[in-house]
Amino acid sequence: MISDKMSNLVKNSSAIRAMFEEGKKMAAKYGKENVYDFSLGNPSIVPPETIKQAVFDILNEEPEMFVHGYMNNCGYEDVRKTIAEYLNKEHGTNFSEANIVMTVGAAGGLNIALKAVVNAGEEIIVIAPYFGEYDNYISNVDGVKVVISPDTERFSINFDELEQKITKKTRALIINSPNNPTGAVYSEEDIKRLSAILDAKQKEYGTTIFLIADEPYRELVFGGGKVPYLTKYYKNTFVGYSFSKSLSLPGERIGYLTIPSEMDDFANVVGAVSVANRILGFVNAPSLMQRVIGRCIGQTADLSVYEENKDILYKALTEYGYSCVEPKGTFYMFPKSIIPDDKEFCAKAKDFHLIIVPGSTFGCPGHFRIAYCVEKQTVLNSLEAFKKLADFYKG
Ligand code: PLP
Repeated sequence: MISDKMSNLVKNSSAIRAMFEEGKKMAAKYGKENVYDFSLGNPSIVPPETIKQAVFDILNEEPEMFVHGYMNNCGYEDVRKTIAEYLNKEHGTNFSEANIVMTVGAAGGLNIALKAVVNAGEEIIVIAPYFGEYDNYISNVDGVKVVISPDTERFSINFDELEQKITKKTRALIINSPNNPTGAVYSEEDIKRLSAILDAKQKEYGTTIFLIADEPYRELVFGGGKVPYLTKYYKNTFVGYSFSKSLSLPGERIGYLTIPSEMDDFANVVGAVSVANRILGFVNAPSLMQRVIGRCIGQTADLSVYEENKDILYKALTEYGYSCVEPKGTFYMFPKSIIPDDKEFCAKAKDFHLIIVPGSTFGCPGHFRIAYCVEKQTVLNSLEAFKKLADFYKG
């Protein structure tokens, strides 16, 4: 007999994972090379060789009872110091190990940040389209989700609506740039506008509104673009970073939270985040992976294939009549479905062996997501299927 809350969560459990499972079944039936599975954001490129080497070196060089032992719930001090120094070099910030908490991926980071600052019944704003797991993270702290409707022109933030929907009860706003599912990257101008709104609303209500920047795709920006570091614009910002995508290590569950010293009630927030890490059962981020990050900070896998895949898909799909905001980063694309019913559209896509995810999963119906973190050959092979799918509706 499971709890009522879990019962609902299980019922609504991830449509994306369900499609991924279905993709595997289709691959068994039709052959892997004849199924174009764009369902899951699982990196397709191998981690750099240096990661493997670091694992061997650590196991050979560092005392076993140290590598495999418990440490401070916030993580190893030396690793946190290395990350702080790296961020300072990259972004001209002024962090020390006191500002960094090692986490179990971005998911772990977001959950402990929310646990640390949100009271039951407080409002947490998300910007549609958004990563569906936020629903669960918000439910974990009994928060109330407030959705800002999509800006389908640019997939930036619908600022007028945001201003209207911030209330006295707003405790946090989650943003994600580079964005899953759209591939949008917020400009510095957008960030400044957002920060100004949050500052003004804090003043108006006499509250603290936390900005939670979810950044697993920070390095996945096309054309060498850079993502502004948000703590420089708005002091009440948590940055939730993850090595899942930049180093292709999603199963290793390693990331960190940055918490700037200027944040309201900084010392208590860090203390609460540390306890949240423990009591949610993470206890600490995986020890061996922390030590690997300490040796490999600043490196990435060879991410170039994602931009190549984007170029091929964007060019072909727009030629076939799909309408799409060109992604500026990540490995996702979010075109309009050719018919308004995105679920029906994605169901029909399966007839052409295409596995794509309905936009309604991300709070943005009428669109679909392509996760093109697949081999380039799969993208090339899939083009004919995308064309047939469009032609089917054009008649
Ligand atoms: N946030 C977004 C927007 C994501 O797309 C993902 C994973 O796909 C996560 C968070 C979770 O990342 P992690 O695997 O590092 O927990």
